[in-house]
Amino acid sequence: MDLGSHRRTLRPRCQGSMARTRCERLASRKKIHALMKKSQEVFTEEDRLLLKKNENLVKILMKNREKKALQRDRLREFEDPKVEVERKCQELARALKESRHAVVYTGAGISTSANIPDYRGSHGVWTFLKDGKDMPVTASLTTSKPTLSHMCLQKLYCQGTVKHVVSQNCDGLHLRSGIPSSGLSEIHGNMYAEVCKKCECMTYYRIFDVTTKTSLRRHKTDRECPVCGEKLEDTIVHFGERSNLKWPHNWEGAIKNARECDMILCLGTSLKVLRSYKHLWMMDRPASKRPALYIVNLQWTPKDSQAKLKIHARVDDVLSSVMQMLGLDIPTYSHENDALISLATPCDYQGEIISIPEAVGKKFCVQTKNESTPISSESDKFLKSDSKFAPSWFGKGIRVKQRKRKKNNISKSVV
Ligand SMILES: [Zn+2]
Repeated sequence: MDLGSHRRTLRPRCQGSMARTRCERLASRKKIHALMKKSQEVFTEEDRLLLKKNENLVKILMKNREKKALQRDRLREFEDPKVEVERKCQELARALKESRHAVVYTGAGISTSANIPDYRGSHGVWTFLKDGKDMPVTASLTTSKPTLSHMCLQKLYCQGTVKHVVSQNCDGLHLRSGIPSSGLSEIHGNMYAEVCKKCECMTYYRIFDVTTKTSLRRHKTDRECPVCGEKLEDTIVHFGERSNLKWPHNWEGAIKNARECDMILCLGTSLKVLRSYKHLWMMDRPASKRPALYIVNLQWTPKDSQAKLKIHARVDDVLSSVMQMLGLDIPTYSHENDALISLATPCDYQGEIISIPEAVGKKFCVQTKNESTPISSESDKFLKSDSKFAPSWFGKGIRVKQRKRKKNNISKSVV
């Protein structure tokens, strides 16, 4: 169907006095728009008269222009001068040392050095998809490993400075770095976790991406619960969906720690989604009783004006300086010690269970299909995988939302 011809036939024509006035108004608006891009020195007398006659419209257009410039500015990524970063890192290190209960909120910005694209950065998934471009190509997410920032946070958690980590990332890297699931709230899910909703949301961790067959509002992973036979579901919260799983989302832990904390450190997140979760910010308390807020991000965030300190720098750089200032070593990640391997429940790729070891606090005895299949054969596939990034959960919600919007626009223009 040629939608273009439909649009052409449905376009309002300048017929009748009302339509003619509307057409004239549109033409004036277009002309004023063009004039505002020119220098005042080249204005003719007719131009000046037109602008004077449409003073209100000029004001509105000026306001819109300022708003767009501000939006562009807020999306700009920039780094503070080195000396300033150094000074701010010292302030952050001091605050962490003196804090009684520090919690950390992380976003995609802490995984970019693991070759996982962020959302709203200059090369982010959202930035590409909203402009109708293809997603940036990167290595498979399963080949990514915890970054320096993940390892710093693991150390800070294990030695007691950081009490809890709330992550918006589904890449599972915090868990793989060694932070226990009890110290984590993966509020948008974990690509390695699938759950049985019938068995009180029993969580099965796998050493492969469980989301290859799932998408927005389609969460069945094609594997079954070995206990009750129920279809297992992934844990990903897509754009437009709500989190309703106990694990690995752990909202209970996130809220409990937000209530107790005296310091919140936000790392590599635009906070555009996180700010809407009011209970994470203790907004029901007067401003002076809320936890001190520290933000590290390259772009503007809507919480900047409330922050005690904002550092425009890369999270890896800031955390490595802070660790040095605190006199703490940064642990090195190794495949052999990847926490996911000990957490994971093995199963074959067709969904048939080979064996179920002790998993997430419960013990099962199951007839094994092939007892000689070692866990390492699966982990080897996982660790040696070098396939190109095949988006599973990544960006699916955005794509569906965009398709819907496009469809709605077409149907509106045809009706
Ligand atoms: Zn079950």
